This record gives sequence, C-alpha cells and structure tokens, in this order.
Amino acid sequence: MNRVQGVQLTGLGTVTVPDDAPVPGLFANGRWTETATGYTRVIRCPADGEQVAEVAECTAADAGEAVASARRAFDSGAWPGTSEKARGQVLLRTAELLERDKALYARAEALDTGKRYVEAEYDIDDIAACFRYYGGIAGTDAGRVIDTGNPGSISRVVHAPVGVCGLITPWNYPLLQASWKVAPALLAGNTFVLKPSELTPSTAILLMETLLEAGLPPGVANLVTGTGPEVGAVLSESPDVDLVSFTGGLATGISIMKAAADTVKRVALELGGKNPNIVFADADRESALDNALTAVFLHSGQVCSAGTRLIIEESIHDEFMAELVRRAQSIRLGGPFDERAETGPLISAAHRDRVHAYVQAGIAEGATLLCGGYIPDTGALAIGSYYPPTILDDCHTSMNAVQEESFGPVLTVETFSTEQEAIMLANDTAYGLAGAVWTNDGSRAQRVAGSLRHGTVWINDYHPYLPQAEWGGFGKSGNGRELGLQGLAEYRETKHIWQNINPQPSHWFESPPAGVQQ
Ligand code: NAD
Repeated sequence: MNRVQGVQLTGLGTVTVPDDAPVPGLFANGRWTETATGYTRVIRCPADGEQVAEVAECTAADAGEAVASARRAFDSGAWPGTSEKARGQVLLRTAELLERDKALYARAEALDTGKRYVEAEYDIDDIAACFRYYGGIAGTDAGRVIDTGNPGSISRVVHAPVGVCGLITPWNYPLLQASWKVAPALLAGNTFVLKPSELTPSTAILLMETLLEAGLPPGVANLVTGTGPEVGAVLSESPDVDLVSFTGGLATGISIMKAAADTVKRVALELGGKNPNIVFADADRESALDNALTAVFLHSGQVCSAGTRLIIEESIHDEFMAELVRRAQSIRLGGPFDERAETGPLISAAHRDRVHAYVQAGIAEGATLLCGGYIPDTGALAIGSYYPPTILDDCHTSMNAVQEESFGPVLTVETFSTEQEAIMLANDTAYGLAGAVWTNDGSRAQRVAGSLRHGTVWINDYHPYLPQAEWGGFGKSGNGRELGLQGLAEYRETKHIWQNINPQPSHWFESPPAGVQQ
C-alpha cells in the first residue's frame, strides 16, 4: 500500500482516507473538510469501468468555502510576503516529493484516465520538471530600476502577486495541466483554488498533501471537486477570485470569459486546437510516417495539440497513406497495465460515442473512411470506452471534420501541390495551437514555420515541449501563455514604485500664506 500522509491509494488504486477523515474533495484551510451535502462521486477507470476512487461531490457552497480559505491566506497569511527564493524552495521540494511518490501518482493518473501506466510515469516526470523549473528561477527577476534623470528620486518596477487564483483543469493530462498553473501561481506569491475535472480528480487530491509536506502554509492551496457548472462557475464569478486560469474546451472557455467579465478579473484560457501536420514530398519518409501516427494517435487523440490534420503533398499521397493506414490498423489498444498496449481508451463511453458521431458526420459530408470508424463490440475492448485509430481521406477545409475538434483518434487528410497552398490550408482554422512541417529543405522549413499562425511549430518533429518555453494558442485556441517566463507573468501584477528621496514643495499652485485672503 502506498501512502501520502492521510490519503492512501490501495489495491487497484482506490483513494481512501482514515475512517475519521472526510471523503477527500474539499480541501480548505489546510485540511480535508466535510462538504455541505456529503454527496460523493465514484470515479471509474475508462478501461474497464472498475471503481478507482470515491470523492466528494462538492457544491457551490463548498467552492465558496475554498475561495474564502484562499482569500484569508492571501489577505492575512504569510505566503505573499515570503521571499520568492523561499517560495521557490517549496516548489523544488514539491518536485522531489513527486519523484519520491511517482509510482503512487502515476497509478492514480493511469486509473483515472485509462492511459498507459508508462505514459502516466512520463507525465509525472514532466510535472516534477515544471515545479523544478519554476523553483529554479526563483529570485532571478526582481523587476527593474528606471533612470528618472534625477538623483533625488528612485523609480522601480516590481512584481506583485495577482491574489486568489481559480484554476480549472481538464481530464486528459489532469495533473500536468494543473502543474502548469499551480507552480507559477505559487512562485508569484498567490493563493489558489484548484478545480480538477470531475472525471479525474485523484492526483489533484494527492497534490494537496504533497504541497503541505513540502512546506506550503495551510490555506494557500485549496481544492474543490465537482462539476463545472456547479463549482467551476463559482471560481469564474466570485468577486473574491482575482484571476481565473482555465484549460479545456472552447465552449466552456467562452462561458468562463463571460462569467468573469462582471468582476473584471484576469482570464487566461488554454483551449482546443485543430492542428496541421504538413508533409512535403522531400521529407524523410520513415520519420514523417512514424511521427504522423504519434502526432494524432498518442493518448488516443486526447491531446489538445494532436496533429489531427494531415496536409500532405499530392505527389506522395497514395503511397504515404497506404503505409499510414497499415500502421494505424496495427496499433494495439489496451488498459493501463496491459504491457502490449500502445494506447488506451477514451475518457468515457459518452465521449467515445461523440467521437463516433463526429466520424459518421465526416463521412456524411464527403470524407472517405480508410480505417477505424467503429465501436468495438467484442472482447475486452467492448467493456472499456475504446475507439480504434480512424483516418478520413478526401477532406477539405469546408468540412466540419476539418474545422471542429473530435478530441479522439481521428485523422483527416487534405492534399496540396504548392508551398503557398500548404500554408493557406494550415492557417484556415479558427484555432491556432500547434502545427508541424516536414521537409528536408531548410529554408522552406523556416519560411513555412514563420508563416504558420500557431503558438507552437515543430520542424521535422511533433509533440516535444519544454517547461522553459511558452505554450499557448493564437485565435480561438485561447489567450495568454503557460510555461516559460510569460507563464509566470500571467500570475504577476506589475507595480511602479516612485520614491522622492529629497522632497521639496513644487509650488505648482502658489498658495498664499495661512490667514492671508486674496
Ligand atoms: P471541458 O471544457 O469540458 O472541461 C474543462 C474543465 O472545465 C473541467 O474541470 C470542467 O468541470 C470545467 N467546467 C465545465 N463547465 C464549466 C463552467 N461553466 N464553469 C467553470 N468550469 C467549467 O474540457 P474537457 O472535456 O475536460 O477537456 C478537453 C478540452 O480541453 C479539449 O477541447 C482540449 O483541446 C482542451 N485542452 C486544451 C489544452 C491546451 O493546452 N490548450 C490542454 C488540454 C486540453
């Protein structure tokens, strides 16, 4: 049995707590707290429907309590005034603890999402790297001193925390998406309330314990589990929340931005993508094929930056597609601990059904189904929410299948014959999160990369990212950036401090001496 302080992960990964502790879900003032209703939710692994955890199903009142805790810790707690270097030490310690408890975290993440355990282990490494990056840059940027042109005054531009942050995250990379918000928010001196997806809350629960063990004062980190409309909405609407940072779908992002408008709080949105993967005829064929598969079918397509649009040079289309289909059909699906599996199920049966309907609609609007496109109805795959790698050929940008996210293992294929056409197709999207170009012509690679209206562009690669480099989207893929220095700036206010060290009257108004009437 693994154990992170009070919260335990046993057997298949059930999150439990000691008999006398509340069911985890509402974490406020540094402890697990009884919710208003006592309602709970059972979390099930999408690979087989087995129970993974039972967590609190919080209400708006519970979310209010978490916000009040974060507000108190910001307004009268020590954290905002703690030196940045000391805050960074807490982040570095968090990274160490995540590595110590990697198996526990990876197991919880794999069971909640259904992803392969080995992929969940990579995620935990990336999460630790994010905490380590922000911990490592602590104290390296104290602002700037401005030359006032006058030795009698000092002018400094300094950073201040924004305040209470509402952090709302999705289910595909549950703790990774949370860490991109939590680590910079803490480094900047904020307090926060985290609202994980109601489908995948286990690792967020574990994180609360880890942060306390790392030395974070009670009340700085708060958690509320439950649905978006019930508890997430409180974070966007509350006047006690100063910033809301959201990762998730476009429609939810729009509603959060509207809900946040009345309080004029800061809003950062990381939304979806419909990401082009451009392959020129001169590209290294084996690398382009191999990466075209990983681009779209990694984690069964449940990746915001997935390369869901293959844009391929006409002259190599037939040959390339024949091999791509052969490889896609041989991808092995299976549960988190199936060592032969290469990818896992979709997050839920409801999501699998939505993906299937999306494929059917694509076929109805003229796409040609090359492989996949069915719901498995025999064996183990019929028990979990699996969907096979699916390829739709003969697509064009007027199709819904090319414009809308499926967030599943679905690739659409378009062709081009000139560089200009490839760029035009790749940019013909309301989104702008990520994209790739494959070519052996170095100057063309740079030209195309420079012309793509997407927040991340890979040349002869797909998927790598670094905690030091900004991540985010153009257009409807969101606003603001996560990671890197800009990912920290999102959580900082900028303040100008002017000090006159030799104050003198300015005599702007020539006031008469006291008692003299004019
Ligand atoms: P979602 O929008 O359904 O939910 C995301 C989160 O928002 C969940 O915690 C949910 O409970 C909450 N929520 C729902 N309604 C809300 C409301 N009215 N107010 C406040 N919170 C609310 O998204 P999802 O299905 O969990 O995730 C998939 C989406 O996330 C995809 O569109 C994907 O592209 C996107 N995504 C983007 C990135 C990125 O970095 N740009 C990363 C991962 C996922």
